[in-house]
Amino acid sequence: QTVPGSTPDAELRFSRFDPKDSRLQIINDSKLFSPIVTEYMKKHWGLADKGFDYNVVAVFGSQSTGKSTLLNRLFGTNFDVMNESTGRQQTTKGIWVSKAEDTNTLVLDVEGTDGGERFEDQDFERKSALFSLAISEVVIVNMYENNVGLYNGANLGLLKTVLDVNLQLFQQAGSPKTCLYFVIRDFTSQTPLSKLSETLMSYLEKIWAGLSKPDTKKDYSIHDFFTFAFVGLPHKIFARDAFESAVTQLRHKFTDRNNSEYVFVPALHKRVPADGFSTFAKGIWDRIVASKDLDLPTQTQLLAEHRCEEISKEVFEGYFVGGVKSLKAVESGKVLDEFGETANDKVKESLVLFDKDGSRYNSSVYERKRIEFFNKMATYLLPLFNQQLANLSKKTLESFTTSLAAGLAADEASGVFNFASHMETALRSSEAAFRSAAIASTLEGALDWTPDVQFNQFLIEIHRVSGDKRREAVERMVGSVQKVVVGAMKDTVIAKLNAGGPLMWGGVIDAYKDNVVFGIVQVQKRGAGFEASHEEIEQWKGNLQWQTWTGLLDTLKDETKDEAMCARLKNIFESKFRYDENGVPRLWNLEDPIDLYFAAACEEAERALNTYARIDKSITLLGDEILEDQCFARNSQHETKKRFDPACINIISSGRLQNIRDRFKKDADMLFMEAKRSMVVTTAK
Ligand code: GDP
Ligand code: MG
Repeated sequence: QTVPGSTPDAELRFSRFDPKDSRLQIINDSKLFSPIVTEYMKKHWGLADKGFDYNVVAVFGSQSTGKSTLLNRLFGTNFDVMNESTGRQQTTKGIWVSKAEDTNTLVLDVEGTDGGERFEDQDFERKSALFSLAISEVVIVNMYENNVGLYNGANLGLLKTVLDVNLQLFQQAGSPKTCLYFVIRDFTSQTPLSKLSETLMSYLEKIWAGLSKPDTKKDYSIHDFFTFAFVGLPHKIFARDAFESAVTQLRHKFTDRNNSEYVFVPALHKRVPADGFSTFAKGIWDRIVASKDLDLPTQTQLLAEHRCEEISKEVFEGYFVGGVKSLKAVESGKVLDEFGETANDKVKESLVLFDKDGSRYNSSVYERKRIEFFNKMATYLLPLFNQQLANLSKKTLESFTTSLAAGLAADEASGVFNFASHMETALRSSEAAFRSAAIASTLEGALDWTPDVQFNQFLIEIHRVSGDKRREAVERMVGSVQKVVVGAMKDTVIAKLNAGGPLMWGGVIDAYKDNVVFGIVQVQKRGAGFEASHEEIEQWKGNLQWQTWTGLLDTLKDETKDEAMCARLKNIFESKFRYDENGVPRLWNLEDPIDLYFAAACEEAERALNTYARIDKSITLLGDEILEDQCFARNSQHETKKRFDPACINIISSGRLQNIRDRFKKDADMLFMEAKRSMVVTTAK
């Protein structure tokens, strides 16, 4: 059977995978680290989420000294035991791990360490000892009693190895110590345990003294790195009952937290969180196999980096991205009221999840990774935040425009203009709306998130829109005043022209002046609500004056067309020729001086024609003052058309005058002939 998911390559083959069996060959006989330790931690052992609430114990000792038997008894594990009748070991070499039956304890059974002569065996013994010391809180050193007295051979070689490799761990004073738990097998009590432990301690001190230590560790005692415990187990076969009860007692020390001699005291814990155990163990093993320095503090640091990175990735992809998915709705142009709340909640919740596993690791690494994680989330949200503000700016601008337009509509209905105050109100409320919504959308702690750029853009837009609205409103206001003024002026002017007479031009010019004055008052009054500058009001006035003036000229032109003038002259002629001083129609007698009447009526018409033809300054009181005003009005309009020119006071050109005279002459002649004829008829009666 091979490990599921592993390659079929012979080197990668791990022995006897059985989902019902909690054992795992963590390192195989090719010195390869199992690829499925994480999976076992999660699924088979259920330890991955235990944080620091788990322990690790390993066993060391010569082959066939009952190690696996002991572990199975202590922890309810299922490690292979040598067949008693055949004496054959079935287990493949390597390191096996299993979870204790009732407790969160990982138990390491190191196979094939017999301290043999072969270099290969010694090499593996060293490597597995180093590995066990680096990850275990307690190392059980298993030996027969009759070997204790022998200061040579397998036992000492093993002890020397254990103490020696420990120096490679770069542990500092204050690092967690390792407990060396000596289990004396086939213990007879002939020599008391205290004597045996003394002997062992003296060996250990001797070995420690003899080790070549690095300068930095010269002054350290063996007790700076280890604690020691000793127990004797009677012969399993010859003292079966005593063996069983001693094993039971020992089991309590390894499994019962309340036992006064509970082995797994917190000071021994290697402070590797359970979810990082497999990464840590693999990192250690890889360095051991590569014969590189095994510096535990550095390994712990690296583990923290690696795990915090993994955790942040897991939380980011597995929780955060899905949690803030609804915020993507801003991309369709919506303003999300819950933007800030969702963003802040999801970031906080993600940090809680990150903290749950991450906070157990090296604190400086954890703090740094936490900031990185926060920044990663903030960076992810930033474009959505910017989009939210862009949408907000658009929405607020719309409500600004609506509010302003409503105010203007009310003004136009009432004729009282308060543009400046509407503008102020709309601006203030939309500015406040933008600010509060922008602040509510911000992520707490994201110091580089600011609504300032969008807010300034928003203000620029607001001023552009309000500028446009104001210009339109002013145009409408000035335009409506102009319409009233020009209309009233035109009506009066037409009436004056129709009335004719010597005071005609005076009346016309008065109509112009009066209406301009009225218009200026109106513009000034209504303009006050726009908080217009002096220059602006002057410009409106100039504009009004110019429009009224050109309106006057247009009216004069219309009213003095050839057709209209001929009709006017005919009227004047007729009223003089055909009616007497009292307005009574004449009945012609032969003796009547019809030629004289005719000449007088013609003269009257000619005089009138001359009056209509030009505005005489002296007669009409069209003073220099008005002429100057017109020049100003025209200039302020930047009007370059030659509408105003002294020549304009000539209303009818001399060419047209002759034409009108000719046409009038025909009409007059006809009326004269008619009169002559009627005179003949009257006489003939
Ligand atoms: P390991 O190679 O150290 O793991 O040893 P095993 O647990 O496989 O046991 C090797 C042999 O020693 C087996 O035949 C066991 O029955 C036997 N054995 C186990 N415990 C004891 C003990 O306490 N005393 C003695 N004398 N033999 C034991
Ligand atoms: Mg064994």
